[in-house]
Amino acid sequence: MTISPTALIDQNTSGLRIGLFGGTFDPPHVGHLVTAVNVMHALDLDQVILMVANVPWQKEGSRTITPAQDRFAMVEAAVASTPGLVAGDAEIRMGGPSYTVDTLRSLRQQNAEYASATFFTIVGDDAAAGVPTWERFEELTELTRLVVVDRPGAPVELSSDIDWIRVEVPRLDVSSTDLRSRFTDGRPLDYLITQPVLEVIRERSLYSSPIGAQT
Ligand code: ATP
Ligand code: MG
Repeated sequence: MTISPTALIDQNTSGLRIGLFGGTFDPPHVGHLVTAVNVMHALDLDQVILMVANVPWQKEGSRTITPAQDRFAMVEAAVASTPGLVAGDAEIRMGGPSYTVDTLRSLRQQNAEYASATFFTIVGDDAAAGVPTWERFEELTELTRLVVVDRPGAPVELSSDIDWIRVEVPRLDVSSTDLRSRFTDGRPLDYLITQPVLEVIRERSLYSSPIGAQT
């Protein structure tokens, strides 16, 4: 059933309201951050966890992925100054391929506050299209509500059998793919990626980064 954000806010549930926003974050950019804070506000969430995928199974084999610990360091830097945003390393600690259903189970088991929390799994339009193919999808829908946000491109309508909502966020046509090519060809990164993230990239020499011009 499709329900409105207002209905979700009004729900009288005890326990924390946690957003789970998974991604490769290679690198994290303003599109991720603007999405996270706007969904947090719209759904009155206590926290949004930007969960760094260990092995993003959808992307395996298609390109070289930056090591998980480096992606986690970038996400930590990205969220450090924003109350409510948290960098998640549960998938890295679990190892192996990152399936959201396992992540939710692990979070609930390992943290008493999460055990009684209501989870909202946040996905962009593009990722939403593939959600029904996610590992153990039926089980997943019992553990979390799905939140779909706009991303430039064709909007996706999920089946009405699924408990999902759409939250409006500013549409920013920013992607990690474009950012990686900007590192390669020297186009500006300013305002697309935050300064603390650029510092991690420089310190760790990620993306073969000649980023002096932007810093
Ligand atoms: P890549 O280009 O490497 O796929 P990406 O920019 O899509 O990177 P991901 O780490 O793949 O970033 O995405 C993580 C989540 O963030 C996905 O649910 C994706 O739809 C969402 N997302 C990414 N960029 C945006 C954006 N600009 N606006 C809204 N959602 C976004
Ligand atoms: Mg993507």
